[in-house]
Amino acid sequence: MKFEGKITVITGAARGIGRETALLFAKHGSKVIACDVLDDDLQTLENDSREMTAGSIKGVHLDVTNRKEIDKVIGEIKEEFSKIDILINNAGITRDAFLMKMTEEQWDQVINVNLKGIFNMTQACSRLMKNDGGVVLSTSSVVGVYGNIGQTNYAATKSGVIGMTYTWAKELARYKIRVNAVAPGFIKTPMTENLPQKVLDYMTEKTPLKMIGDPIDIANAFLFLASDNARYITGQVLGVDGGLVI
Ligand code: NAD
Repeated sequence: MKFEGKITVITGAARGIGRETALLFAKHGSKVIACDVLDDDLQTLENDSREMTAGSIKGVHLDVTNRKEIDKVIGEIKEEFSKIDILINNAGITRDAFLMKMTEEQWDQVINVNLKGIFNMTQACSRLMKNDGGVVLSTSSVVGVYGNIGQTNYAATKSGVIGMTYTWAKELARYKIRVNAVAPGFIKTPMTENLPQKVLDYMTEKTPLKMIGDPIDIANAFLFLASDNARYITGQVLGVDGGLVI
């Protein structure tokens, strides 16, 4: 799969799935703009990519809830490269609580990052993709497909990602912009690493392939969906979950 000369913007790229995706796309020749709010981790990512011979990674501070920051960063990309080929909406957070105990703040925080953040980024980037076409990929979750106790806010956003993916696939096809989502199952990242061992054991047991996924499993799905091999695929949600949702 060839990504030389491609400009890929990835949100939540400082660690976990986003970091692995940034490294994989750069390995395949893409110039990656890695966006996150964790500046130190972005610096580490940039340093780790210095030896690469194919593509490159540039870390940029960007909070997906902040429209001013988004306009500034997309403006700078427009000035330097005149285009964005691929947007990967990966930034996401959890603020879990049972429905009866969930605070308005917990609800708002997750909606703002996981749902409105994806709207913000896709609106800004699609305007730049309009002339040459492009690819928009977003991170949903198995939780958006079948729910999860204690995750009212998170489930709402991850189902919302699926709705937006279907809508944008229809709306942006005329500009040759393909829009797809990936719905990861249980993946070992900083988001899940502090869960009790019994939860990890339960998830492993519940997954037909009897294993927890790695960030590279999701990165590989993004790479395929962003590639020309997927040129006839739009409006799809690819489950990468070891069979969890069957
Ligand atoms: P992670 O916590 O390791 O990474 C998320 C990244 O998003 C972090 O680097 C964080 O700083 C960044 N981020 C948070 N708020 C941001 C903001 N306002 N602006 C910019 N960046 C922000 O988690 P992960 O497991 O790598 O998750 C990546 C995506 O995958 C998320 O959308 C998550 O919901 C989704 N997902 C993860 C799993 C899993 O099991 N790990 C399963 C399904 C879906």
